[in-house]
Amino acid sequence: MSDAAPSAGRDGQDAPLHDRLHRPLHDLRLSVIEACNFRCPYCMPAGEVPDDYGFDAATRLSFDEIETLVRAFTRLGMRKLRLTGGEPLLRRDLPALVARLSRVDGIEDIALTTNGVLLPRHATALRQAGLGRVTISLDALDPALFHAMSGGRGEVADVLAGIEAARAAGFPVIKLNCVVQRGVNEHQVLPLVERFRDSGMVLRFIEYMDVGTCNHWRREGVVPSAELRDLIHARWPLRPLDPRYRGEVADRYGFADGRGEIGFVSSVTSPFCGDCHRARVSADGRLYTCLFAGDGSDLRPALARGESALAGQVASIWRERGDRYSEIRGQAAGSRRHVEMFLVGG
Ligand code: SAM
Ligand code: SF4
Ligand code: SF4
Repeated sequence: MSDAAPSAGRDGQDAPLHDRLHRPLHDLRLSVIEACNFRCPYCMPAGEVPDDYGFDAATRLSFDEIETLVRAFTRLGMRKLRLTGGEPLLRRDLPALVARLSRVDGIEDIALTTNGVLLPRHATALRQAGLGRVTISLDALDPALFHAMSGGRGEVADVLAGIEAARAAGFPVIKLNCVVQRGVNEHQVLPLVERFRDSGMVLRFIEYMDVGTCNHWRREGVVPSAELRDLIHARWPLRPLDPRYRGEVADRYGFADGRGEIGFVSSVTSPFCGDCHRARVSADGRLYTCLFAGDGSDLRPALARGESALAGQVASIWRERGDRYSEIRGQAAGSRRHVEMFLVGG
């Protein structure tokens, strides 16, 4: 730690920081840019978000501000940092930011979530800068379907090249995220498993979530993870694996023949709010204590006063946190407004 914050990471009585449901602040998902080169209909539909959205650099936290922010969060117990977006690889000089953040005391792990198309250009520099893990989104192998699912912007061949670039750069852990929607890409599940099950990479199927409002989510579009698990198990028998740590988002399964593992993120059918220790900060410096929050808290005024002031503000917000949206989804009022996924990055 660089200087002694009052009750740094503590509740004043030397107790670790917890929210109202006794959850620590362990992970931070930090969006570095709102812009994206895709327009996935489940996240940032082309008809709803203009092409030039999010490219105004003046609204973003600078690298200096981000470093101060990350230092403040580590005082409160944050150990795992994930950079996201929008599309984080659109942020200029991202490897320089990773290098700075990887030197912050307390950070144990820096990961990145990306759509992968710019990885051939940046993977090696990111790895050398200290990025530990990369998660690449891949919703389909079929080229025409992939193109449609990127909002007409992306080619699956470019993402596959990005995956290869990440491997070549030596990332020890590469995860692949596939959001499955009923009637859209469920027929891609078995081909994806077939292609990646023996690759050393971990494919994870994610239930389509009611994040944001502009994707016009409908429950009928959700394919429950249990259904996918049974489908895959019928072809390649699976056995459940223990979580590697408390609060792990994905349920893990190993292939019975020992040829790798897969995961399921079941936020709709099997909520995991009880162990949710993740904070999210948007590229313009707003703190969201839940993926489904309506509003964030502006951190910029405290950030301008420095690391201690910011740690104090975040601690007082975290102590009041009682979010458990996925557990009470059915009871929530119909018109509830949620922050858009492309602002908080998953
Ligand atoms: N652009 C990067 C990418 O796509 O990987 C990072 C940001 S993106 C918002 C992070 C993750 O959120 C992606 O894996 C994406 O598939 C997922 N996502 C976006 N909208 C979603 C939704 N409605 N339901 C479930 N996952 C969603
Ligand atoms: Fe962009 Fe990622 Fe959202 Fe797709 S999921 S529109 S790639 S931010
Ligand atoms: Fe965490 Fe909110 Fe998701 Fe629950 S709904 S797991 S509190 S982000």
